[in-house]
Amino acid sequence: MMIIRNVRILGGEPVDVRVGDGVIAEVGAGLTGGGEEIDGGGAIALPGLVDLHTHLREPGREDAETVETGTRSAARGGYTAVHAMANTSPVADTAGVVEQVWRLGHEHGHCDVQPVGAVTLGLEGRQLAELGAMADSAARVRVFSDDGKCVSDAVLMRRALEYVKAFDGVVAQHAQEPRLTESAQMNEGVVSGRLGLTGWPAVAEEAIIARDCLLAAHVGSRLHVCHVSTAGSVEILRWAKSKGWDVTAEVTPHHLLLTDELVEDSPVGAYNPIYKVNPPLRTRADVEALREALADGTIDVVATDHAPHPVEDKESEWSAAAMGMIGLETALSVVQETMVDTGLLDWPGVAERMSYAPARIGRLTGHGHPIEAGAPANLTLYDPSHRSPVDPSSFASRSRNTPYTGLTLPGRVVATFLRGKPTVLEGKLV
Ligand SMILES: [Zn+2]
Repeated sequence: MMIIRNVRILGGEPVDVRVGDGVIAEVGAGLTGGGEEIDGGGAIALPGLVDLHTHLREPGREDAETVETGTRSAARGGYTAVHAMANTSPVADTAGVVEQVWRLGHEHGHCDVQPVGAVTLGLEGRQLAELGAMADSAARVRVFSDDGKCVSDAVLMRRALEYVKAFDGVVAQHAQEPRLTESAQMNEGVVSGRLGLTGWPAVAEEAIIARDCLLAAHVGSRLHVCHVSTAGSVEILRWAKSKGWDVTAEVTPHHLLLTDELVEDSPVGAYNPIYKVNPPLRTRADVEALREALADGTIDVVATDHAPHPVEDKESEWSAAAMGMIGLETALSVVQETMVDTGLLDWPGVAERMSYAPARIGRLTGHGHPIEAGAPANLTLYDPSHRSPVDPSSFASRSRNTPYTGLTLPGRVVATFLRGKPTVLEGKLV
């Protein structure tokens, strides 16, 4: 038995939380002692965060991240579960590979690792992977995605949507029409025109989202849209939801904060590939629309798209650099900065979008529960009053490709508990 004293659940009045056997035994003021005690120091208690979109890079790119380092990074960020994307090497397109990732998570994970299965063999977009075998495997895959690539063939997408219905799965689409984005380098707009970089039009994302919403409705299946980045995408999602269709969507912290203007002018100069990401950073108007959509529930989830890359893959000229940013250790701070401190979202809203909803969409039964007696003791203690400049050398991730270096962000994860066991205490890995 353990008592965590003086925490404010979802920002409410201070209480104590008694934990035993991996579950929350009791919540109340002035609980009487017995066993270990941890001082929460008035921190906000959130349900353990759940990421629907993490790249752990193992197997294949252990120089960028491993299950061990990626889940350490997740724990530092307040996460108790992450969905590991399928674009590894080999690709997670068979029961064997998803079970390998699942086992690695069991053995080395500082949080739970739920493998995502590829939709098509080798992410090649030509032939469906064995979705049923992955669903039936020990990894019990429910989320399928070719993330990094779009399932652009409408017939394959339709078949995948039909197929996953049998086991209550969901197809998570990376919405990017490939022909419209050939050699694309950054958001298509005023800035790309000035810089002479090939543009990545908003319509390439929006056209796929519209098509997939229609397909999901047509076959009566579940669609999840990865990393929504444009105002137009938000309008389409709003329309699809108004129809009652089973469509959900996520936005990344970086798309809530950063704009394409940083490619031209930033504290680290112009053309700095630290800002190169897929989908690209968009305009201020897009950022505003994404924040509004997350606030009103049109976008259901904040997902990190944590995409580690070694230095040599990012510190090159713009056109050659890899796309992606790490994000697990800064996600909650960026959400506080963009959504909470702006008055758009309260802490219950954060819990919904970073824990309950992602667990629901991923069908993770052991995560995303309100902090009350009987729930699994997955908890994040967070101090929103803390402020410090982002220092990547302190990160647990094996990679350092964060766009926030030196930027002062609010908040700090004080502690993370996975089934009652601390993975982080006093801001440090246990
Ligand atoms: Zn993606």
